[in-house]
Amino acid sequence: LDASVKYSRVMLKISGEALMGDQGFGLHPPTVARIAQEVKSVQELGVEICMVIGGGNIFRGLAGSAQGMERTTADYMGMLATVMNALAMQSALEALGVFTRVISAIPMDQVCEPYIRRRAVRHLEKKRVCIFAAGTGNPYFTTDTAATLRANEMACQAIFKGTKVDGVYDKDPKKFPDAKRYETVSYDECLAKHLGVMDASAIALARDNDLPIIVFSLDEPGGFRGILRGEGTYTRVQ
Ligand code: UDP
Repeated sequence: LDASVKYSRVMLKISGEALMGDQGFGLHPPTVARIAQEVKSVQELGVEICMVIGGGNIFRGLAGSAQGMERTTADYMGMLATVMNALAMQSALEALGVFTRVISAIPMDQVCEPYIRRRAVRHLEKKRVCIFAAGTGNPYFTTDTAATLRANEMACQAIFKGTKVDGVYDKDPKKFPDAKRYETVSYDECLAKHLGVMDASAIALARDNDLPIIVFSLDEPGGFRGILRGEGTYTRVQ
């Protein structure tokens, strides 16, 4: 492990929308490749990397149910969307020579591995990037909760939530120029003020297990690598 690095095992959570570029829907391969490059640059530091990718660029359960679809069925469709995103990321990482495993909460053996905790830990020890797909495998949850669950199970030291902004603000920085970024903020303040870091069940699960959430901008080239070395701007939820 590179001496400058403050974490040896991390969870990177990104939304599905991070993969769609400017298209407004689906997958934008150059964007997927760019994020894969960010992950590779962190792996080169010797950090063990878990990933969870959302599915919102393809399908969201709530949107389906709002259009009359049965909620649990719609949620399973959302979980399947995350598997597609995970496979796209695996392909992009492997194109860069990064060994990667997609590990699904819902077994689909022809497509990827089933989730077996000890096996996933072994992959991490061998420096393979583990992409946890299909969320928690349960409807009514989100991939934020899945990321927090797997981060706890894998004993990650923090969740890195890659977003479009460089941290958590007291109001939307894209709308209010006087919005202030928090250096650190407590889990309870995030919950009480609805700061939109992650959904409430994910924040509570992180809080109850003392798992810090580091919110940073994924749009900044080299940003993920920098933050692992204590550089750049971000907010630490703790
Ligand atoms: N989902 C689910 N259970 C989980 C994780 C995800 O049912 O444990 C479904 C849910 O319908 C959700 C969709 O998968 O809307 C996509 O995940 P999410 O909305 O978290 O994606 P993101 O907003 O991060 O792209």
